[in-house]
Parts: sequence; C-alpha cells; structure tokens
Amino acid sequence: MTDATAPITQDLMTIKRAPITGLPNLVGMTRLQLRDALIGAGTPEKQAKMRVGQVWSWIYNKGVYDFDAMTNLAKPFRTMLAEQFRVTLPEVVTKQVSTDGTRKYLLRIEGGHEVEAVYIPEKDRGTLCISSQVGCTLTCSFCHTGTQKLVRNLTPGEIIGQVLLCRDDLGEWEKGPDDKRLLSNIVLMGMGEPLYNFDAVRDAMKIAMDPEGVALSRRRITLSTSGVVPEIARTGDELGCMLAISFHATTDEVRNKLVPINKRWNIEALLQACRDYPRLSNSERITFEYVMLRGINDTDEDARRLVKLIEGIPAKINLIPFNPWPGAPYERSTRKRIEAFGDIVNAAGYASPVRRPRGEDIMAACGQLKSATERARKSRKQIAEEAGL
Ligand code: SAH
Ligand code: SF4
Repeated sequence: MTDATAPITQDLMTIKRAPITGLPNLVGMTRLQLRDALIGAGTPEKQAKMRVGQVWSWIYNKGVYDFDAMTNLAKPFRTMLAEQFRVTLPEVVTKQVSTDGTRKYLLRIEGGHEVEAVYIPEKDRGTLCISSQVGCTLTCSFCHTGTQKLVRNLTPGEIIGQVLLCRDDLGEWEKGPDDKRLLSNIVLMGMGEPLYNFDAVRDAMKIAMDPEGVALSRRRITLSTSGVVPEIARTGDELGCMLAISFHATTDEVRNKLVPINKRWNIEALLQACRDYPRLSNSERITFEYVMLRGINDTDEDARRLVKLIEGIPAKINLIPFNPWPGAPYERSTRKRIEAFGDIVNAAGYASPVRRPRGEDIMAACGQLKSATERARKSRKQIAEEAGL
C-alpha cells in the first residue's frame, strides 16, 4: 500500500502484455464459452473439463497470461493455445496515486477508447471501482461522466480485466476465498450505467465470484444503478450481488432533473423494484446513494421524506458530498447541512455514513471520472439547460 503522505506519482505499469491480435481473447469467456472455444480448437471433449480448470486457474487464480508459463500444460497444448488465442487485459495508459493512497488507472481498450478504474484502500478493506461503459447514455446533471456521450459498452473481458490488472498492480495472486485481501470488494460505480450493459457485467462478475479464480463473494460486489427498473430484478436473480441505488432526490420533480431516467421509471416504480429485491435482510441491505447538492436536495424536509419513502426496506443511506468538476452547475452542501441531514436519517434508524471523497487530487472521486480522450465537453450552459435549471 502507498504511503499516505507520498506525493502524487504517475507512472506506467511495466507488466508485459501479449500484443493485441485478432485472435479470440480468453479473458472474459465464461467457463462454458471457454470449453466451447477449447473444443473448437481441437481439444478432445473428454479432456475439456480438466483443460478449462487448468487455464482458468492460471488466468484467474495465478494471474499468468503467458501460455509458455502455464507449466502444467503439455507443450503441444500450449503451442495450440498460443496459435489460436490470446490473453490480454486493457492497457494501462497512466496510473496515478493520490496522497490518500487511492490509485486511479486510465486504461485503453480496443478501438483506442479510454476508461478509468479506481482502487480505494481502507483499513479493513480495499475496494476497486470499475467502469462498465465508455461514457454513459444517461445524462444525470451532476455527473461528469454524463457529459460524455456513450462510445460503447465494455466487453466482459474488459470489465473483469480491470480487476485482473489491479490485482497485478497490488501483487495479489493465489488467494483463496478466505484469505485476507488488498482488493476485497468490487463496486460497479465507475463510468457507465451497468444495467444498460447487463449481460457483460453479469458474465464478468460471475467470473469474479468463481471460487477457483478471483473468488470474491457476491456480498462483496455492489452494483450501482441510476434506476433501470426492469434490470434490477435480473440483477437479483442472475447475479445476487449487493445493490446500490443512485437515489439523490425525494420528489419526482427534483429527481427528473437530477436523474432523468426517473421520467421513465419514477420513484414509486424504483422503490417497488427495491422492495422486491431478493434476500434483503439486516445483513443484506440496499444502499441508497444521495449526493448532497447545496439548495437542491438537502433540506431537513428532504431528509424526512427520504426516510418515509424507504420505510420497510432494509437500507443504509450513503451521503455523498457533491464532487465538483469543471462546468458543473451545482455546489456541495455545507458540512453543517450534511450533518443535519444525516442526523435525521440516523434518528430514523438508518446508518448514514458520509462518503469521504477519495482521490480528489487526481479527479478520482465519485462522478469525476471522464476519459481525457473525449475532450469535447458540453458547455456549462448546455448542461444547465438539459437539467432544466
Ligand atoms: N451509473 C451508475 C454507476 C456510476 S455513478 C449510477 O448512476 O448509479 C456512481 C455514483 O456516483 C452514483 O451514485 C452517482 O450518482 C454518483 N455521482 C455521480 N456524479 C457525482 C458527483 N459529481 N459527485 C458525487 N457523486 C456523484
Ligand atoms: Fe451515467 Fe451514473 Fe453518471 Fe447518471 S450518475 S450519468 S447513470 S454514470
């Protein structure tokens, strides 16, 4: 882990990567897809299960991407793999380390697009915040990513690839489900709306949960959505991970402006999907994220409405002080206001931790991510108009 007082550093990771070729990438294939690929390449069906297990373990348990180094595989099989497949991760363009130890990776994916992933070390855990899309089709008016047009969805390989390369950087391989980890949690809170790229996110997170690979429990993975209601049920059924909702407002009128998807699925529809989310209990609660915007959504009345709305849902409320970005049409609520808001929420029996902005000096905090390649930015006026301000 980085010395908390160290100055910001910027360096390139020097991990060797196989060159990107037209060959199919094994990273991101489900076990079934990997099996089909190996059989298609000539592996006898009888051996397929064993081969899948071996290759899987090299990539996801040991972090070995070079076929030559997969020493328990027979030489001819290794040669076949090298001729027909590749194992590639997104390329690390820059790595920045904040004074608080947060690491931000700027990654280049195929097509030359860029996305960001952020690693946040804490005393009892280490969380990797990953991206699911380049940009975002949604246009939440307080979010920097929302000012960037969607370029494309990430593939499962590009999503799980963010986890692999962070483990490379932390030197964290060959750990079992019960071992203490530097990277112990994943949050889908980077760029993009994960539920608009559901299949890829699901496949990638299934890989992260596989006990013979990265082996993170479903309870250590949190997916954050702005409220794509029909996909919330699928998340519960097909993935079973923890759910975070970008709630941010207590009336449809205000939420329509802050999180425009609310015009399609309003607060009532969203909360019904939350109530229906499987396995909710005191130990598996929904996180309601609430960005604190001065004079917009931060009154005592808002706090009281909020607890009333979520009544009966096992929940915690994550208060996020607004993180400014150039051209943003909002300001952060005062600390006093955030505390007063939090007190009301607390008194109603909900935990309401205030999220400490991390990595602000490297623009790694929530909502600040936006790839540098996409420089054409909407103007302040345009953002304000679209938000109906
Ligand atoms: N698209 C998903 C996940 C990515 S955003 C979603 O919207 O949930 C991760 C979290 O950061 C969301 O709760 C989002 O609302 C919040 N966020 C976005 N911009 C922010 C900003 N400028 N300051 C603070 N939080 C922000
Ligand atoms: Fe997209 Fe989430 Fe940002 Fe909204 S808050 S624009 S859904 S990334």
